[in-house]
Amino acid sequence: MTDLPLLQIHARPGVGMLSGTRSFPEAAREALADPQLRRNLGHATATIRGKRAKVVAELTDWEQLRDSGRAIKVATMVELDTHLERLEERVTAAGGVVHWAADADEANAIVTRLVQATGHREVVKVKSMVTQEIGLNEALLAAGIEAYETDLAELIVQLGDDLPSHILVPAIHRNRAEIRRLFLRTIPDVDPALTDDPRALAATARRHLRGRFLSAKVAVSGANFAVAETGTLCVVESEGNGRMCLTLPETLITVMGIEKVIPSWRDLEVFLQLLPRSSTGERMNPYTSLWTGVYPGDGPQEFHLVLLDNGRTSVLADEAGRDALNCIRCSACLNVCPVYERTGGHAYGSVYPGPIGAILSPQLTGIEDNASLPYASTLCGACYDVCPVKIDIPSILVHLRAEHVETNRRTHRVPTPEAVAMAAAAWTMRDAGRWRRAQQSSRLGRLLGGRGDKRQGLIRSLPGPLRAWTGARDAPRPPAETFREWWARERGAP
Ligand code: SF4
Repeated sequence: MTDLPLLQIHARPGVGMLSGTRSFPEAAREALADPQLRRNLGHATATIRGKRAKVVAELTDWEQLRDSGRAIKVATMVELDTHLERLEERVTAAGGVVHWAADADEANAIVTRLVQATGHREVVKVKSMVTQEIGLNEALLAAGIEAYETDLAELIVQLGDDLPSHILVPAIHRNRAEIRRLFLRTIPDVDPALTDDPRALAATARRHLRGRFLSAKVAVSGANFAVAETGTLCVVESEGNGRMCLTLPETLITVMGIEKVIPSWRDLEVFLQLLPRSSTGERMNPYTSLWTGVYPGDGPQEFHLVLLDNGRTSVLADEAGRDALNCIRCSACLNVCPVYERTGGHAYGSVYPGPIGAILSPQLTGIEDNASLPYASTLCGACYDVCPVKIDIPSILVHLRAEHVETNRRTHRVPTPEAVAMAAAAWTMRDAGRWRRAQQSSRLGRLLGGRGDKRQGLIRSLPGPLRAWTGARDAPRPPAETFREWWARERGAP
């Protein structure tokens, strides 16, 4: 049994890779100035969007599947503690060992200790968001243990000493020519005549990784799902590197966020239809690996499951924001987001980019550590339309913006200019006379129209501190008469 009082601890997360050092607008400005990055992103997201739309259109019951996925996730979260304890019991009964980690530091310490106990100094890794979230590779390196990424895109990121910029395609910001140059520079004994043909690049990576697979004694993975009723873990992937890591080494350590548990195999059936169509645009994943504890003489003979909180119970405690935990990390919301498509993932400063990152990271760290992310959206709703588990991302963004405003109000003794402006607007709108006088005086703003485009009725540049507003958008020129004046002229006084 666990000694962690689940759902009551409200653990604060370890730093890991959840908070960037710059705000979203600062980082986005830099990304927007890079035309090559925008070309790479535009091409890749458009391709994945097209594939997804095609395979989703094949299913007549797609909307019912989405409803089922959402219903399973919502019901699971209500009894998350029960499902987790059942999972622990079944994994233990099948020969695995379950560990509970309240935050990133604790999870890293557990994994480091487990690897050290094997006596080996190298691990191979299956692509895993959660180990990036906690900064596991860096923690292992600090303990003298090398972690080798085996997913092709993760390998590209690791070789380039880079950061992932997409949930599914971590190296989406790199094109083939850049990858070819990287391989020539970092992989030993690469044929100097290597071209940027995708097959040649993949073959080079395969040769490089083959030796690692065959010699590795310890593997670290994440998990897409964990079935509580049998204690079965599931990883889906496209390259077969995951299957190698999950079967060849002697010891397997899986780190999993506590929200990944699902009650039964029948539930898994729903997600194995939703996930591949929403992520890679495939009918099913090329590799779906499932394992339950250990099996004598077959696969790893030692299995550890690390169940990670790292802020998740705090998210669960917020009724308006907890749906973010339902995410199955398909990345469909990234590929349709007009903001992500232009800025890429690095601008979000967190391992979780795009619309899901904008609602998940601020909740995991606390709004003060990622305050700019809920504003990194136009609220167009495209993310909600494609999400396979119907997470209402726009509503959660608005909820987090309100939380940020409220936090600012409580913590700043001197109100911000925005707070003063909003208070003045509220005071004016509360009284019909005040509102009428304000509308009439706003006509003065027509004079400012002279600074802009009169034909289009726009003010391109406001003076003084108001310039910050028009620095990124146009302001409409106030009309010559108000609606009430027009009504009185046309229809007579009300
Ligand atoms: S929020 Fe929805 S669309 Fe976005 S990654 Fe998660 S499951 Fe996919």
